[in-house]
Amino acid sequence: MTLAPPVAHEGPALQAQVQDTPGMRMLYSALNHLDDAAARLNLDPNLHRILRTCERTLTVAVPIELDDGETAVYTGYRVQHTSVPGPCKGGVRFHADVSLEEVTALAQLMTWKCAVLNLPYGGAKGGVSVSPATLSENELRRLTRRYTYAIMPIIGPKKDIPAPDVNTDERTMAWMSDTYSMLIGEASQEIVTGKPLILGGSVGRADATGLGVAIIAESTMKRYGTPIEGARAVIQGFGKVGYWTAHYLAQAGCKIVGVSDVSGGYTHPHGLDVEAMLKYTKTSPTRTLAGYTTPGLETVTNEELLLLPCDVLIPAALEDQITSLNADRIQAKYIVEGANGPTSSTADKILHARGVMVVPDILANAGGVTVSYFEWVQGLQAFPWDLAEVQKNLRRFLYNAFDHVCDFSEANQVSLRQGAFMLAVSRVAEALAQRGIFP
Ligand code: NAD
Repeated sequence: MTLAPPVAHEGPALQAQVQDTPGMRMLYSALNHLDDAAARLNLDPNLHRILRTCERTLTVAVPIELDDGETAVYTGYRVQHTSVPGPCKGGVRFHADVSLEEVTALAQLMTWKCAVLNLPYGGAKGGVSVSPATLSENELRRLTRRYTYAIMPIIGPKKDIPAPDVNTDERTMAWMSDTYSMLIGEASQEIVTGKPLILGGSVGRADATGLGVAIIAESTMKRYGTPIEGARAVIQGFGKVGYWTAHYLAQAGCKIVGVSDVSGGYTHPHGLDVEAMLKYTKTSPTRTLAGYTTPGLETVTNEELLLLPCDVLIPAALEDQITSLNADRIQAKYIVEGANGPTSSTADKILHARGVMVVPDILANAGGVTVSYFEWVQGLQAFPWDLAEVQKNLRRFLYNAFDHVCDFSEANQVSLRQGAFMLAVSRVAEALAQRGIFP
């Protein structure tokens, strides 16, 4: 593993803690991307030092009473990278692999993502280290409410606004918003985004990340000369991001030749019927694709899925999926990162050298936070928009960011990831320089 170079005053603590965990690898990748951008921008080392650290890190115990009367205690986190550009913004993840390092990396990535899209937010992320599938609905509700209570001191509609992420959804956001409102004694729907429509959610939020990934994948193929009609797409993950990406790419004329979820990978040379697959997951015993079948379908492992020949590969499940172990065997022309941090920094270099174009997460999956921003604006103004307004503005924000990142990267002869990070870091650093250091 290549470690990011130490920065003076950072101290040896972080370096000494290095363990080869996915969360740690992700954190080092995030820091490597920042350091690379800082070096290329010739960034003031004082600003760089601040941007390498997180403004606030909270670790909380989340005890809950289980249905059988036993007590379980989980560990939760909320990390705020910076509030310099505006309030902090980022999702909440429930997953067994959640760690402080992973949440820290994801909080930093949120800062850069918001900056690429010119959204007035800094980055944050939260999570609880838990396997939600092992909990009943009542246990999940108690977990969500206790976690919300535990992070209460640092969240707020003008401080830090959580949203859904892996294994959390509208229902989780409804519980979070209710808990926060009860505790402060006033209705506060703007405390979270990704809420149900009836509770102040935005039309177009549920599919926004996947629609955004599809828009960016289409824009990439258009700009770099691959016809969209008939283009072969492979998508890892069939959740909120993966399914909607598949839906919109199929609608645009792409052939979805492979998808996977936690149960494994499914391929069809003539293209999969993603709507039939979604319908199957709604009633399958595990709510996954396990057991799905149709004539001509072949099953592969998740590892094999990433290596299928295709035009565009979309990792939309978890981080650290494309690494030094498989990057030299990826056959896609383009990788469009639906997930956060799916490509390690070593893999990134291998892919760049092989001419595989990688559209980075901080651009590719920014549709979700962009519509979250619209939801927050609608909440603050208590004035809902219609779907046409939401999607028109989403396209405007994404096309602007895409063109800007591509033009900048081409002009500076750097990869799209390097260009996106350079733009993002320069914007946040400029805001930091203008504000100065308090006091
Ligand atoms: P989700 O929980 O809805 O779906 C995750 C999917 O990944 C599921 O289909 C699951 O079965 C699958 N999966 C889990 N482990 C897998 C494995 N080892 N191999 C293959 N598939 C596996 O989560 P989501 O909201 O779709 O998030 C997916 C990724 O996108 C995460 O990295 C998340 O941070 C990122 N993201 C989400 C949003 C959003 O709005 N939901 C926005 C930006 C980025």
